[in-house]
Amino acid sequence: MALYPKEWTTSGELLIDEPFRIGRIERSLETMTEYAPQRAMGTIDMHRGSRAFRYGIMPAMASLKDLERRIIRCTRCPRLTAYRQAIARTKVKRFATWDYWGKPVPGFGDPRARLLVVGLAPAAHGGNRTGRIFTGDRSGDWLYEALYRYGFANQPHSVHRNDGMRLKDCYITAAVRCAPPGNKPLKEEFDACRPYLREELQLLRRLRVVVALGKIAFDEYLKANRELGHNLPPERKPLFGHGIQVELPWGITLLGSYHPSQQNTFTGKLTRRMFHDVFARARALLDAVESHSTFD
Ligand code: SF4
Repeated sequence: MALYPKEWTTSGELLIDEPFRIGRIERSLETMTEYAPQRAMGTIDMHRGSRAFRYGIMPAMASLKDLERRIIRCTRCPRLTAYRQAIARTKVKRFATWDYWGKPVPGFGDPRARLLVVGLAPAAHGGNRTGRIFTGDRSGDWLYEALYRYGFANQPHSVHRNDGMRLKDCYITAAVRCAPPGNKPLKEEFDACRPYLREELQLLRRLRVVVALGKIAFDEYLKANRELGHNLPPERKPLFGHGIQVELPWGITLLGSYHPSQQNTFTGKLTRRMFHDVFARARALLDAVESHSTFD
């Protein structure tokens, strides 16, 4: 029975049209991993000569897709699982007509990203409603506006999963993937979710700059790296602060920013100017090195 997508022949060849288009490959991989995951992974070895393989896109995309599927199904944290599902059932009045996502929210963006943005967790009526990180809430309005301004996103507004948003050279993730009560995950929930961050760090091989939104994201990023064997001597462990820039010995520049939560933006602790300055710095750092990414 022919279970394979059109682009994938029975001999195991994935036909890649020129010009190379990321969106098409993504769709092919989705179909392949759904129907025949082992063959889909084997495809990586079969295409060592392709442009996709040479640029490191295929392995990263295949594995990020696989990771995304595992995250969406995750129920490791009983408290968070119950909470996000309850919120999805009860909703709020202004979103009463929405069909809430109600599942863990995976990372989003360009598999070849050199910039990683690490947040805390999805918002109960933001990511937990729309199914995309930082989408549909005020923090997301700030973040995507800044990403657009500095050339990392193709549009400034992020409203729902199918709004056409594309990230270029940027990937967004969070320390915890399920909306927590009171925006406060427990220590054991961070610990349970950190393996997903570690996997992303391993798969996003081109990363050069990381923006941590808030102290917790900053510390979780360093913790994930420590678990990956990137250890910093105690005297060199950086302390979080807004605008801090740290050169890490594993080739990453870590930038700290206050989280664009309403608690910070409404009180003036974080202004637009302060927030944009962080992404202007990220842009300047990345512009100093070669870039190949384009929107598909
Ligand atoms: S927070 Fe992370 S580890 Fe816990 S249930 Fe959600 S996805 Fe799974």
